[in-house]
Amino acid sequence: MLETICEVLEDAYKRNWITSRDGNVSIRHHDRDHFYITPSGVRKQTLQPDQFKKIGLVDNDFGKSWEILPYTDISSNLRPSGEIPLHFGLQKEMGQHSNDVRVVVHVHPTYCVAAMHAGIDLSTVVHSFPELSRYTKVAPNVGDVPPISQELANQCFDKLQLNHEGDIEFDIVGIKGHGVVAIDTSPWRAYEHIERLEHICKIVLASGNY
Ligand SMILES: [Zn+2]
Repeated sequence: MLETICEVLEDAYKRNWITSRDGNVSIRHHDRDHFYITPSGVRKQTLQPDQFKKIGLVDNDFGKSWEILPYTDISSNLRPSGEIPLHFGLQKEMGQHSNDVRVVVHVHPTYCVAAMHAGIDLSTVVHSFPELSRYTKVAPNVGDVPPISQELANQCFDKLQLNHEGDIEFDIVGIKGHGVVAIDTSPWRAYEHIERLEHICKIVLASGNY
């Protein structure tokens, strides 16, 4: 699935959802005590599976923490994505995906970000476009928070309604002035939540009625 994540990021780049070094993705299999995350500062349109970072989940007195595990020679010279607090928090317990795979995708889709910039709470567009909620549950927006911060991670957990067992109520959350985070059981399924919301945001903004 690391190869599929590379394809997803290449597609996100082609759609202008990220510039070269933006965007990050993590993936965890339910029976493993580690997950993989995209590296920091690497051009995502040419990302390779052997560039991923392998992150171990370590039990300690305070719950879980993370550590970098050896993976490939190429990845040993790279750092994990700066958004690792966000991915660690969403991957450390697997909740409703505890017999499956969990993929977390963070990108900057143009119309989602534009809609939030225009003052739209993404969770409200479902009122006018009920088709959206058949497949995608949209959380209320996260406000202005600094990128690659624990605060961004915490606010995303709060709005996604992540609990201690790792259950997550929503499929996608928008971060104002920044991007979105989507979660599902495969890279393309997470991607589809973003695509669906992006399409609706484009329609809303084109209508001029918001
Ligand atoms: Zn970002």
